[in-house]
Formats: sequence, structure tokens, C-alpha cells
Amino acid sequence: MHTPHLKTPLREIFRLSEPHKEGLKKLRLETVEDLLWYFPVRYGDTSKSSHINNLTKGENVTLFGQISKLETKKGFKSHINMSKGTLTDDTGSIELVWFNQPYIAKMLNEGSFIKVEGTVSEKNNQLFLSNPQVESLSKLPTIVGDSIFGQDNDLHTLYPVYKETRFVTSNWIYHSIQKIFKTNFLDTLEEFIPEHLLNTYHLPTLKTALVWIHSPKQASHATASQKRFSFEEIFLIQLQVQKDKIENSKLHSLKLEHTQEAVSAFQKKFPFHLTVGQQQVIKSILEDFRQGVPMARLLEGDVGSGKTAVAAVATFAVTQNHPDGKDFGNLQVSYMAPTEILAEQHFRSFIELFKGTEVSIGLLTGSTCKKFPSKTNRNEPTTISKSQLNKWVANGEISILIGTHTLIQKSIKFKNLAFVIIDEQHRFGTDQRKRLARKDDLVPHLLSMSATPIPRTLALTLYGDLDLSILDQMPLGRKPIITNIITPDRREETYKAIKNELADGRQLYVICPRIDEPDPEKEKTLNVKSVKEEAKRLKQKVFQDYNIDILHSKMTPKEKEDVMNDFKNKKIDILVATSVVEVGVNVPNATMIIIEGAERFGLSQLHQLRGRVIRSTHQAYCFIFADSKTDKTIERLKAFKNAKDGFELAELDLKLRGAGELAGGKQWGINDIGMQALQNLKMVEAARNEAKKIIEKDSELVTLPLLKDRIENKKITHFE
Ligand code: ADP
Ligand code: MG
Repeated sequence: MHTPHLKTPLREIFRLSEPHKEGLKKLRLETVEDLLWYFPVRYGDTSKSSHINNLTKGENVTLFGQISKLETKKGFKSHINMSKGTLTDDTGSIELVWFNQPYIAKMLNEGSFIKVEGTVSEKNNQLFLSNPQVESLSKLPTIVGDSIFGQDNDLHTLYPVYKETRFVTSNWIYHSIQKIFKTNFLDTLEEFIPEHLLNTYHLPTLKTALVWIHSPKQASHATASQKRFSFEEIFLIQLQVQKDKIENSKLHSLKLEHTQEAVSAFQKKFPFHLTVGQQQVIKSILEDFRQGVPMARLLEGDVGSGKTAVAAVATFAVTQNHPDGKDFGNLQVSYMAPTEILAEQHFRSFIELFKGTEVSIGLLTGSTCKKFPSKTNRNEPTTISKSQLNKWVANGEISILIGTHTLIQKSIKFKNLAFVIIDEQHRFGTDQRKRLARKDDLVPHLLSMSATPIPRTLALTLYGDLDLSILDQMPLGRKPIITNIITPDRREETYKAIKNELADGRQLYVICPRIDEPDPEKEKTLNVKSVKEEAKRLKQKVFQDYNIDILHSKMTPKEKEDVMNDFKNKKIDILVATSVVEVGVNVPNATMIIIEGAERFGLSQLHQLRGRVIRSTHQAYCFIFADSKTDKTIERLKAFKNAKDGFELAELDLKLRGAGELAGGKQWGINDIGMQALQNLKMVEAARNEAKKIIEKDSELVTLPLLKDRIENKKITHFE
């Protein structure tokens, strides 16, 4: 192999089959750099493996061996799909069984070497492993008599385990990285973290850290290199964030003024009093509006905390201003919702608030275009053509345009866009925002709203203090949801209690368990299957008298919308769904949610799901059906039951299950090791302070060209 460089595509140095290429694409591994920064999720230890002739029931074991007699079949009575195989080492054989995972038998090759981890079970006096974790190996460490690190004389026994897909195994990743290390590659690498930081924080150099993280000779190597890479990740993000901030402060926005009287009068239109929290957020936003520098504020608030009202008041304040110091003409607001249903919902509530004013509102989604008010009836919206709507947006006649992501299409041209609201949309990069700038380089103010609570360290990393608003108070008079943890023996009585509520006219969500599968397409298919089966079971065996329908991610937006509308209009009593039920949809009469297989969800995600039933004045219930009764599960679920809000749960998730469990971990654009680092507030603060110091002195990084290159290569989209 020629010595590659960081940007060398993997396909140039390795021979790859088509499925292999697909697998690498799924893991987003394209270049040498991607591969080297693809860190092990953990390390296995060959010295801790067991021998097959020496197992006892109930024991948790790691076994190495050769797999044979692979087959898939349906359970005799249960009709459950299962995979089977026999594992053999030099002491004996044992059967392996995987329930509901028929793909496993197809994933492995007859006769190949594997490593399994699992609990020893027993049936009819025969020991077997049920649902063990499995990894393919190229050869057996114990049989061959050396570690999988080759001929080293040291008896180091740690080996890296990478997250794999069907065609890209952990073992392939390991060997490919080692092949790269065998070239001169490492000697061509230049350290980009300033030396004084490496010294201050006792971090290994890039070269050492790469070798150590992918092939540690001892546990302390792995730890030291993890520390370096987590510092690196947070540090690089921080440099980018600080740079963006300086850049942002050089941009201009319209100064937007308001009068307190007008704002107060508008607030009286709500059928409730704004909470103190809502008022504080509104105050910060209106203050930002006055600065002439584009606002980039994140509003985080639990589901149901009333973010829409905040958005509405801010929108109102914008409509009180006119373009370019004139005393006529409209400034424009665009409000982007994640789904059509939510866009419609916002459109309707904005109509209520702006009725009787001069402000006109447009709705633009993939399937509809509407304008309020209609020419013939000032109290109603009317359907119009898309080209008509575009025209009115372009000439400034429409002040507020609400819609889905269709709003950022190139064909939509605003005349005087002054304010952009993004609801539940997680990522919206700096570049995207700049594209919305007006011809005269005025950048719109931006408010992004999210119901995904994130721990404080992550918030600090991504935003810093100034641009973050948190709504941690619920509107008054909301009854707390009653959360019950239901063990398998109490299923029947729970169904009975639910039937009483259904008979009173309430509605129910049933969320099916999350099925983890490395292949996302397959995961979706399996999830859909379990939704369909559960709906059928409930109709036949439990809720015969009620209308049941399903919702899952393989349905088209139109199909989903129809089902949600039927649910809203009570044509459906029970909605069986995957965990992807649209966020934030308002069905006040749905007061109950069952979450099946609850232990498989992160706490934050459970909290999001529970949030679906928060919107009513009726008492709401959340039933947590757990399959497992282990102490750890019960303890976690109890924490969920008792936590006061989503922020507390986000912190708990981080502590109990690690960063991977944070709702939508990936969408933050931080690698796993960086996420892990977020558990360490000290480190985050250190990285942040160092980055700040550097950027304050030299915002263009002229004196640190290697660091500058590294950041530019990394293309961090710090989302706003
Ligand atoms: P989210 O923050 O999840 O977007 P919404 O804005 O949809 O929450 O608000 C949830 C519900 O709470 C809505 O029905 C809304 O009318 C109501 N609401 C909002 N603010 C208040 C308040 N201050 N007092 C009472 N109800 C409120
Ligand atoms: Mg909302």
C-alpha cells in the first residue's frame, strides 16, 4: 500500500465489494480520516473468555469459537422467527439461539470464527446461549495462540470493538486501520493541537493517541487517548462556535422596535396568562431584536411548555415594524414546522391571534397553499395556488409564512424577511441561514425551538450562555401525568382500567418497543411489523370494541397525516405506533399512552413520548410496560416516574447509559467520544476556555495554520 493521506478515499487503498461499499457508506466512512476517527465503542479482553465445557446456567460469558449448523426457522408453537447455530471451541460445543432476529443466521458464514457474549440458559437439560451478542473475527485468538494483534510477544489481550454493519465487520475495521499504520502514514501526520495545551492537560500526541486508541497495549493507553480525542472534539467545536459568533456579530440585522403597550395588548388575546418563564423569554427576544446584530437564540422547553405562544408574541413584535425606516410596508416572518400537521396547527392558532389586524398569513406545505384572510370572508383562510402565494410572498403582501421545510426552497423569495422561527427542527446551519439574507445583506433574526432537553454541558458546548433560553416551567393548572410502571403480571388489570377511560371517551396511544438493528432499513421494517402485529393482537384479544389504526415511518406523509387527522377527529380510538409518532401534535383527548418494552428506550425519549398526553385538562396516564424486571431496569424507570422534567432526565441518561442514549445523539453532529466527554463538565469548560482565549487573540487562526486547516476540514455545522 502507498502511504495514504487523510483525505485518501478508502476505495483507493482497499479492495471493496459493492455491499462493502454500501456498508461503509452507512457508517459514513469514506476517507482514511473517517476511518481513523472511527473509534472503538469498547474494548474486549481475550483473557476473560470462558471455555464451553466449563459453563454454568445463569453465568454471563464470552466465548470464542467456530460457528456451524446455521439455520433460520419458525418456533414450533410460538411461530417466532429465530436463528440458530452451534458454536465449537477446542473443549466442546453449545447451541446459540436468537429470537426474532432471522437476519443473524444470514449475517454469519458457516465455519467462520466468532466471538459471542451472553447469558447461559438451560432447557431440557441442555445449555444454550439465548440472544447472545455476536462479532465476526478473522481468526481465533485462543486457538491460534496469540492475540489478534499479531505476533507481538507482549501478552496484551485488549482488542477494540467497533460498531459494525452487515458487511463491514468490527474486525475488518481493525485490520484496515492496522494496514494504514504499517505504511509511513503516521509519520506524515502533523499535530494540530497547540503543544502547551497537550502539556497542560497531559494529552498524548495525535500519532500516539491514534495508535493507542485502535490498539492499546494496556487499559491506560485507551483511557489516555480517549481523553485526548474527547478534548479534541469539544475544543474544535468550541473554536468553530466562537469563530461563528465573532462572524455573526459582524453581520447586520434590522433593528426591530416595539411598544410595551402593543405587546401587552396582544398578549391579552391568549385565552390564558403567560407564565413568568414565557415572559422572560419574550423579553430576551425583544431585547435581541433591538440590537441590529442577528439574533441566534435557542429556546428549549419541554413538550407543552408553551413555546408557540412565545413565537407568536415575537412574531407580533416584528409585524409592528416596517422596512427600511419607512412607515409603511411589511416585514416578514417565516415559521418552519417539522410536519404538515403541525404547520396547519400553527396556521390556525395564528389566525385566531391575528384576526382583525392588517396582518396576512400564508400556509405553505407539500400539499397545500392557503392565505388568510380570504378576500370574501375576513375571518377565514382560503386555498390559493402556489404561484399566487409565491407572488404575495415576493411582493411582501404576506407578513407571516408558516410551513414545512418547503419554506427554504429556492423558489420562495421573501421581499423583507426579518425573522425566522424553526420549530423542532434540529439542524439549521449557519450557511443555510446566510442564504436567507436579503439582497442588502441584512440577515434575519433566528429563533429555533426544541423540546429535546439536553444536558447543560452540551448546551454550553453548542451555544454558550447568552443565546440559550430555557422554559422550565409548565403552564399553571396542568395535572401532572400519572406514570405507572407495569410489570407483566399486572397487564390485564391495566387493560381493564384503560377500558374504563376509553368508555368515557378518551383515546390511547400504544408505542411499540424499539428494535435495535445495525441496518436502519431493516430496523424500520421490523418496527413496522411489530406495530402491525400489536394492532392486530389488541383488536382481537383486548380492545375488540374500539377502532384501532397504526402509524409508522414507512407511511407516506399524506398517509400519516390522514391517520393523525382521524385520530384527532376521534374516528380512531387507539393509535398503535412506533416511537416516531409526530412530535408535538396536539390531540387533547388522547390522555393515555402505553409504552411497550420501555426499558429499551432512553429516559429522554420516554419523556418525549409521555409528552404526547400532556395537553389535556383531563387526567393523563402513562403506562410503562417493561419486559424485564431487573433491579437496574426498575430503578431507571422509577427515576423516569419521579423526575421533575426533561432536563433532569437528560442528565440522568448521560449518567446511566452514556451519551449514545441522549435523544437523537447523532443529530448534534458531535462524535460519540465527544458526547462521552460531555459527562465531564471540567473538561468541557477547559476546552471552551482555551478555545475562547485563542479566538479572542486570533480569530482567523493565522498563527495556528494546522488548527485552522483541521477545523475547515472538519466542517462543523454548529447548528443554531
Ligand atoms: P410546546 O412548547 O410543546 O410547543 P405548545 O405551545 O403547543 O407547547 O403549548 C401547549 C398547550 O399549552 C397549548 O394548548 C397552549 O395553548 C397551552 N398554553 C401555552 N401557554 C400557556 C399558559 N401560559 N397557560 C396555559 N396554557 C398555556
Ligand atoms: Mg410545539
